[in-house]
Amino acid sequence: MIKIDYRLNAEKLIAYCDKVEKLIGTPIALEKYNKRCNYFFKTIEKRDLVLYGQIKRQTDYICGLQHAYPKLINSVRHYAHLETALTLDTEVMVKIISHVKKYFVKDGLIKLNHEAVTQGLKNSKLTSYGDLRKRRGRLKAKGGTFYKIISKPILYDCLHALFAEFIEIYAKFVSQKINQWIVDETGVRVCPYCNLAYVYNREKHATAQLDHFLNKSEYPMFALSFYNLVPSCPACNHIKSDSDGEMASPYEKDVFSDVVINWYPKQSSKSLHGKWELTEIENNIEIVIETGNNQVQNNVQNMALETAYNKHLDYASEVLLKTQTYMNSESQALIKKTFQDMGITNEDIERYYFGGYLEAEALHKRPLSKMTHDFVSDYKASSKKYDDFLK
Ligand SMILES: [Zn+2]
Repeated sequence: MIKIDYRLNAEKLIAYCDKVEKLIGTPIALEKYNKRCNYFFKTIEKRDLVLYGQIKRQTDYICGLQHAYPKLINSVRHYAHLETALTLDTEVMVKIISHVKKYFVKDGLIKLNHEAVTQGLKNSKLTSYGDLRKRRGRLKAKGGTFYKIISKPILYDCLHALFAEFIEIYAKFVSQKINQWIVDETGVRVCPYCNLAYVYNREKHATAQLDHFLNKSEYPMFALSFYNLVPSCPACNHIKSDSDGEMASPYEKDVFSDVVINWYPKQSSKSLHGKWELTEIENNIEIVIETGNNQVQNNVQNMALETAYNKHLDYASEVLLKTQTYMNSESQALIKKTFQDMGITNEDIERYYFGGYLEAEALHKRPLSKMTHDFVSDYKASSKKYDDFLK
C-alpha cells in the first residue's frame, strides 16, 4: 500500500549487477545468459515493437554506463542484455509477462484443455502456466491419462527452461547477503504491502523477505531482477505466493495513490453517546480498505489486508479518538500549547500526538502510519461521520 520510492542510480545499478554476476559465475556462464536474454528480448521484438523499444532503452542506458563508468566496470563485463533483465522496470516486466501469456502460454493451454475434454476429462481445466507446472509436479509420480496430456510440452516450456537456473542462483542471495543489501539500499523499514510489520536487518539476520512480485517458478527470467524483489514481511510474502491474480507492485509509480484505509460504524452499532470507553469504539467499528484500482483491489483481497487491519481495532479506535480530539479547534489549541510549552516544535507536534508520521512521504517509516494519515484526511474532508458516531 506504500510505494517504494527508490531507483537504482548508475553506481548502484552497476553494484547490483556485479553482485549477481559473481553468483552466476564464470564468463562462459555469463555469456550464456547474456545470449539467452538477448534471444528472449528478440522474440518480443518480432511481435511487439513498442515493448521491445522499452526494453532496448534500458539496454542503451546500460551500454552508456559502460562508457561513462569504465573504472567501475569489471573486466569481464559487457553483458548488457543480461543486465537489462536484471534491472528492468516493473511496468516493463509486467508487459512482458502479458506478452508471454498471450503468445507462448495461451494456445498451449487451450490445446491441452481441448485434449483433456476429448478424452472425457471435463473437470481438469488448466488455468495458467503456474497451474500447469503445479499439476505436472503433483501428478508426475501417479501418471495417468491427464498427466500424459499435460506432460506434453507447450511453447513456453522452452523459454522457461532457458532461465530455470536463475531460481537456483537466487537461492544463493541469502548466503551472499544480497537480500540484506537490497533491504538496506531501498530503505524499506515497514512492509510496503501491508504497512503493518517492521522489516529490517538485525546485524547478520534479515527479518525482511524478498517477495518475487512476478512468481519466480512461473517467470524465472525475472527471478534475479531488482525491481521484481520486494522487501516484505513474511506474512505478506507467504500469503501472496499462493496468489495468481494480477496485483500491484510497490515499485510501480503512483499505483497506491488512491488507496484509502477507512473506518465505518458497524451496521449493528449505534452512535456512542455521552461517555464511552475505547473498547466501545473498538467493538463498534470496522476497517474497510477502498481503492478504484483493480490491481490494488487484488492486493487487498489476495493478502487478506482488511482482515489484518480489523485485528488492530484497538489501535484504530485510539487513532479515531485522537483524530476527533485533535481536529476540534478548541482542543487542538490546548494540545498545541501543551506541546509548545514543552519546547516541541510545531512540525513535531502531530507526530508526538498521533505517535506516527502523517506526511505522505514518511508513511513507510512506521507501521499503521497510513491508517492514521487516512483517518485524519477523512476527517478533514468531512467530520460528519465522526460527529454522528461520537455524540
Ligand atoms: Zn506485510
